[in-house]
Amino acid sequence: MTFKSQSPDIDLPHDLSLWSWLFDSTQSCLSKYPRDKIQGFTNVVTKQHVSFQDVERYTTYVSTALTTLCGLREGDVVIVYGKNSIWYPVATLSAVRVGAVACGISPEYNIEELCFSLQLSKAKFIMATVETADKACAAAAKSGIPKENVILMDGARVGMMSIQRLLQLGESRGEMKQVRPYQIPKGKSNGDVCAYLCFSSGTTGLPKAVMVSHANIIAQCLQVQQITPPDHDKVLAALPFYHITGIVHQLHLPILLNAHVYVLPTFTLDALLQTVADYKVKELLIVPPILIRMVRDEQTVSKYDLSHVKRFSSGAAPLSQEILALLESRFPGTGFKQGYGMTESCSAITSHPPSKYAYKYADKVGMVVGSTEVRVVNPETGEDCKVGEAGEIWARGPQVAMGYLNNPKATAETFDKDGFLHTGDIGKFDDEGLLSITDRMKEMIKVKGIGVAPAELENLLLGHPSVSDAAVLGIPDETAGERPKAYVVLNPAGGLSPADAGRALIQLAKSSKARHKWIAEVEIVHEIPKSPAGKILRRKLRETSPQSSGNV
Ligand code: AMP
Repeated sequence: MTFKSQSPDIDLPHDLSLWSWLFDSTQSCLSKYPRDKIQGFTNVVTKQHVSFQDVERYTTYVSTALTTLCGLREGDVVIVYGKNSIWYPVATLSAVRVGAVACGISPEYNIEELCFSLQLSKAKFIMATVETADKACAAAAKSGIPKENVILMDGARVGMMSIQRLLQLGESRGEMKQVRPYQIPKGKSNGDVCAYLCFSSGTTGLPKAVMVSHANIIAQCLQVQQITPPDHDKVLAALPFYHITGIVHQLHLPILLNAHVYVLPTFTLDALLQTVADYKVKELLIVPPILIRMVRDEQTVSKYDLSHVKRFSSGAAPLSQEILALLESRFPGTGFKQGYGMTESCSAITSHPPSKYAYKYADKVGMVVGSTEVRVVNPETGEDCKVGEAGEIWARGPQVAMGYLNNPKATAETFDKDGFLHTGDIGKFDDEGLLSITDRMKEMIKVKGIGVAPAELENLLLGHPSVSDAAVLGIPDETAGERPKAYVVLNPAGGLSPADAGRALIQLAKSSKARHKWIAEVEIVHEIPKSPAGKILRRKLRETSPQSSGNV
């Protein structure tokens, strides 16, 4: 059976680009609210503020200068490589305004990881910050990107172009010379044009670049707007802007809703709670590892007045009943909601509507959002499951992404010809239409809500002389949700003892990968179970290799 949304269908425009829809349509907060009521982005540390009018103006000038002075063209990819800041939306929307594609990546990425992202996305420009500029310049040099195409989005540095300088240059060119915003060409729809690239490990293999269209973001904003209560006037931007949740819920949706965004450049529990207390934020959009700290770290939490918090909003990874019960007792009277989805669905497939903001529904991930259909399919028989039966979740709707960039094979495996996205997650519906996630079929490991592709770490390990075979799985972790664990067959010719090899491999991941990909444990095994086609049998490995024995 197909589970349909109980919300009415959204009214999705097909001919508008994302920028024009946000700033130059009847839906725009700029046309709906008086000038002095328009909200914006505030950096909670520096108190710098840009209103949504500023964002409209700045992106007009910056994109004009990027196009006329730096040679940015329609379809070019701009990597955005920095922590959250009020300039982040200016960077991404300047690219999107002229039909280029913005691609956010973790500021923790090292030069090799950045080179991989540049190569995969075929990026022509990098927007960096003072902290990431050296790595960006080094990766640009290695990847054949001219130095002038590395632009600072926050701060200044001698010899480097910056967004602020582009803004001045763009502004000084005068109204007449402004480059017009990108228009969806006749014969095409906004669902055919990519606005963002987001990295995801997908269901299998190495990270891939998900093509998120102009329509995907507009649709998801409208879908979430339908179930957003009017009190949602302040948004905490504590999740990274490079993740699809940040892109939708902390960047575009607030502009549609005219909600004030409080931007946290760097996450610490104190900084988050201080922001919530100072600005009386009512809804806390956070991921399970932060919620876990909120219930466990009473000493920190008790320093702040959180009496105005109305509800918690979680997603990206599962939450245990125990944590939910603790949260409810620690914050009595609050509501709770979850969203479920993935990068490939431009964030939410399901979410709790306001009528279900209660802890008794908190272990569910909500109901199907507007204009969306969900099938629960038995992975063995391919048949639809009934209410209460678990199977793989498939979703179809206007938020389902265009596919993976330059990867038709992975695209065909994940996005079927009928338009359904095969999520690789196992779940079931109850008779009220609430979905629960019960398992994950796919390889992805979720560390602090961020996806890690086991294949990326397996490739790294296989390059070590002491390793003759390797597999990586996620293991439960109290604070991060999951962490990668490596199962390794040693190559005796490498000359390392099992204990030394374990230590060396843990160190290898630390020195060559961003923190969330670090290997927590290594277990030496005799063989990695494989199918006749050579595919790692991950479930079998998990069953046959108890986590406690032989770990390093
Ligand atoms: P990402 O592409 O990084 O957004 O990761 C998507 C994956 O995160 C999904 O396919 C699920 O495995 C997991 N996920 C997302 N939301 C939830 C949730 N509310 N509960 C459990 N797992 C989730």
